[in-house]
Amino acid sequence: MKKVLVLEDETSIRSFVVINLRRSGYEPIEAATGEEALSKVKQNPDIKVALLDIMLPDIDGFEVCRQIRAVHPKMGIIMLTARTQEMDKVTGLMTGADDYVTKPFSPAELTARIDALCRRMGDEEESTVSYDIVSGPFHLNTRNRTLEKNGERVRLTQVEYSIMKMFMDNPNRALSREDILNTVWGRDYFGELKIVDVNIRRLRLKIEDDPTNPTYITTVWGYGYKWGL
Ligand code: CA
Repeated sequence: MKKVLVLEDETSIRSFVVINLRRSGYEPIEAATGEEALSKVKQNPDIKVALLDIMLPDIDGFEVCRQIRAVHPKMGIIMLTARTQEMDKVTGLMTGADDYVTKPFSPAELTARIDALCRRMGDEEESTVSYDIVSGPFHLNTRNRTLEKNGERVRLTQVEYSIMKMFMDNPNRALSREDILNTVWGRDYFGELKIVDVNIRRLRLKIEDDPTNPTYITTVWGYGYKWGL
């Protein structure tokens, strides 16, 4: 069974999530504080997806996300955000989350998001055709799912890697935000287009020489993004 970390300090919400995860065939691992979550991750490095509440009694969910990411670049991370805190979504994604779910959420919505993340990771593991793409200083290896810039490894999340691969498979072609969302997050994903922009912003910080003046990933106004040298 796939392990899912549930970090939530409110017992009622946590129990509700845990019951529904079990019903959907996942193995929930519970944590009520940020510190507890980090130690559970240490004990269970095979956790597939982490659900992180933001407002916690000790360290906040963003910091937990940052610390998990530093050790587990490929773990799926979903932030549980409050409806009123719009900025949380962007902050969460910038600290390395793959997705967010707004409270209050239905069990169906939450499991759909977890299923989508697991499917994306699983599909990619099963891919047998591997190849290298070299573009300027960049070298993408699809077997190891790694990216190097000038021979140095760039640490990417699953989502960032998928976006880079899509770009490098389609050089000098404008890709719409909808295309990127469908390819990277899946057609059944019912989140917002903004998630694409936030991930691109994060990716630029990692790969551009000057992220404030991007030259590799350029914006195609009113449409999407383009990869080129
Ligand atoms: Ca909370």
